[in-house]
Amino acid sequence: MMKKTLLHVCCAHCTAYTVEHWRQQGYDVSTFWYNPNIHPHSEHQNRLESMERLAEKMNLPLIIAEGYDMPEYFRRVAGKEEQRCQICFELRLGKTAETARENGFDAFTTTLLISPHQQHEILLKTGKKISGDQKIEFLYADLRKRYSDSRHITKPMDLYRQQYCGCVYSEWERYAERDTTG
Ligand code: SF4
Repeated sequence: MMKKTLLHVCCAHCTAYTVEHWRQQGYDVSTFWYNPNIHPHSEHQNRLESMERLAEKMNLPLIIAEGYDMPEYFRRVAGKEEQRCQICFELRLGKTAETARENGFDAFTTTLLISPHQQHEILLKTGKKISGDQKIEFLYADLRKRYSDSRHITKPMDLYRQQYCGCVYSEWERYAERDTTG
């Protein structure tokens, strides 16, 4: 029987090739949306809507976590902004592992592994730690070289494309240089 994996998805563009990869490895892939790190809410909804459209096109089951857990993101990050990405990974991957376990999946993984913008080593360490704590396998692959392949798949779909990682801190960093250089 095919092994089932729950793939945490951060956006449609990183999802496209990641799904192909795990399907090629023989996994039955379902996707999971839980991104309380995406601010503001309208941005979160734009990215979610793109993901829903991709899921339909790729015939991909998509589980959407209830609500918008943005206050929990800020509760955890407040006063520890320097470590915010690790905290952000812990929050999102922790919830994914929990959901995977509760719903009878064999493993969990994340589209963050395809992004050259993420802190890959911290991501790997966090995934392994959660895997040990929650007793469910974390599927790891360094997919960063396939980032443009993923973008290539979604290009003709004309999906909303984000300009920053997700949180207000990343939005600030993205636009601060432009604002100071006027
Ligand atoms: S920069 Fe990205 S990964 Fe880091 S905390 Fe913000 S949303 Fe999360």
